[in-house]
Amino acid sequence: MREFNLALLGKWCWRLLVDKEGLWFRVLGARYGMEGGRIRDGGRRGSSWWKDITRIREGGELEGGWFGDNVSKRVGDGSDTLFWTDPWVEGIPLCERFGRLFNLAETKSQTVAEMFLRGWGVEGEDQSSDRWQWWPDPDEGYTVRGAYQILTTQVSATMDDAEKLIWHSQVPLKVSFFVWRLLRDRLPTKANLVTRGILSPTAHLCVSGCGTVETAHHLFISCSVFGSLWELVRSWIGITSVDPTSVRDHFVQFTYSAGGSRAQRSFLQLIWMVCVWVVWTERNHRLFRGSTSSSHQLLDKIKLFSFRWLKSTSATLAFNYHSWWSNPMLCLVLV
Ligand SMILES: [Zn+2]
Repeated sequence: MREFNLALLGKWCWRLLVDKEGLWFRVLGARYGMEGGRIRDGGRRGSSWWKDITRIREGGELEGGWFGDNVSKRVGDGSDTLFWTDPWVEGIPLCERFGRLFNLAETKSQTVAEMFLRGWGVEGEDQSSDRWQWWPDPDEGYTVRGAYQILTTQVSATMDDAEKLIWHSQVPLKVSFFVWRLLRDRLPTKANLVTRGILSPTAHLCVSGCGTVETAHHLFISCSVFGSLWELVRSWIGITSVDPTSVRDHFVQFTYSAGGSRAQRSFLQLIWMVCVWVVWTERNHRLFRGSTSSSHQLLDKIKLFSFRWLKSTSATLAFNYHSWWSNPMLCLVLV
């Protein structure tokens, strides 16, 4: 029933996107106020119904972003798309990607067409109107039945071994959700953005310059640049394993690669999640900031993050960063 309820609430999110002239949009806008062309979340004043809707809209951690991941804006003439806050470039709103610039922007609710007129880009050739797309069904748009199917297959039916490994008490929740999306191939990788029609098919190459299409499997496992991180991580920990064909198998196999004890598994589970998190962050830094870290710098980040996550949740761990750096298994008394 929970999924059905979410699917119904999702219908409201969809309606508020596609029907901005509608009565409900105006009523809610008047009650909670507007910001950047969207209705404010209302903070504590919001009714619980409205809180649920904004949580789905924002893709709060508990909802896993199932709504936001599946909608995108197709820009026609740009007159009905908000430049900063609508996800019209690669599925990510510009205000998230260029936060500092957004803070400096005088007008936060300009449309794409208005910004183009001000010289922010080439004026669109396209004379069709802008419209929201629901990725699972681009023609019909959002339906409660369709969303219910997505939610039920996402949440329970396909919960396999790999997905049970995501929930780890020492891993930040946002990272668990990131891995959850990765295992379902729902990250905005370039290959996925091309499939969704958000990115042009010629812009699909891996940011490392390796010359291969950026799929999740490529980025996290087989890329000659990012994939080489696994070898460094294995030699740091002192384990050996091969890279299996799917991301899921990789996760499961890595977790069990040091043998069977529960503590070892839990540790390797955490390391795997740190590792993919670091790769994704690096990929975004390269793509959006133009900054690049070497494999050894990335390994340092993995060491640092895992140390912090473990330390922050278990006060009894009595090792220092130096010994963690050189021999983590020994620190955890796993050898
Ligand atoms: Zn690559």
